[in-house]
Amino acid sequence: MKAAILHEFKEPLVLEDAPVPEPGPDEVLIKVEACGVCHSDLHLAEGDWSQLRGIMKRPLILGHEVVGSIVGKGGSASELQIGDRVGVAWIHWSCDQCDICKEGMENLCPSQVITGATVDGGYAEFIKAKASHVVKVPQGLRSDEAAPLFCAGVTVYRAIKKAGITPGDRVAIFGVGGLGHLALQIAQSFGAEVMAVDVAEEKLEFARALGADTTVNAAAPDAVKQIRRMGRPHTAIVASASKAAYDTAFAALRPGGTLAVVGLPAEPLSFAAIALVAAEARIIASAVGTRADLREVLDLAAAGKVRCKIETRPLNQINEIFQEMRDGRINGRIVLTL
Ligand code: ZN
Repeated sequence: MKAAILHEFKEPLVLEDAPVPEPGPDEVLIKVEACGVCHSDLHLAEGDWSQLRGIMKRPLILGHEVVGSIVGKGGSASELQIGDRVGVAWIHWSCDQCDICKEGMENLCPSQVITGATVDGGYAEFIKAKASHVVKVPQGLRSDEAAPLFCAGVTVYRAIKKAGITPGDRVAIFGVGGLGHLALQIAQSFGAEVMAVDVAEEKLEFARALGADTTVNAAAPDAVKQIRRMGRPHTAIVASASKAAYDTAFAALRPGGTLAVVGLPAEPLSFAAIALVAAEARIIASAVGTRADLREVLDLAAAGKVRCKIETRPLNQINEIFQEMRDGRINGRIVLTL
């Protein structure tokens, strides 16, 4: 099969002919139709994340936003049928036995296996996956539109769920990129009044087209003042990888408000303890999501409430796509179609 393979950190991926994986008894073999390109893939390829570098498989097939059809299965994969359309997420497998899993936090399972990091992912014509952990894609939702929901979509969905947004809340989304534009739509589906904040005017225009109630250009010197004047948000979801976005979000937050950490700046976040205490601010974080979260966000998309802006590209352009990502030239989500 055709596959894009990472041999060495910081080197381009190599398009190669690789053997089609053989599913074990508890696994399915999936013919990949679409695989989203996540910023995490670039971080993995560059070896940026020291916590993962040591446990990453190599050579490795990246890609953890995978959708395709089941074409083979092991003996104990009885609940799934050949032809079923399913997706594979970042959490390739979790033990389902430990306290963390039993408390519904399988996304934090210490024994977890990670798609496209500790096992091969979806930048290939075929992938094998655990029958227990693939999630069916609802009919009527296209594979290329569903793929990004398996990481970008579920990540912001879980953050919004954990923030406890209720109808009528003011929610500010910082960064209207691949994650942010999904966050905006999901927050609206929770009944929130949504403000979009970004430094790029075209992103704000995009946010308005998606139905944002208000927009603020964060590059304006009085951005915090503007946000405060329009109504300080109950929840700020930072989907941007810029530390400045966190500083603005924190300063703008309503007393008693919640800051949701989604975007990953390289430098540590810092907030003065007195400011945290004085506002009784709550800081939450979310790490991808569980199978239950995935089913919920897929249902929202199937109901037409969330639509990922995608651009489809062939597998052989992956190194160019990574370069565009480094240059910040990507709008929405790139999805490889196979
Ligand atoms: Zn991802």
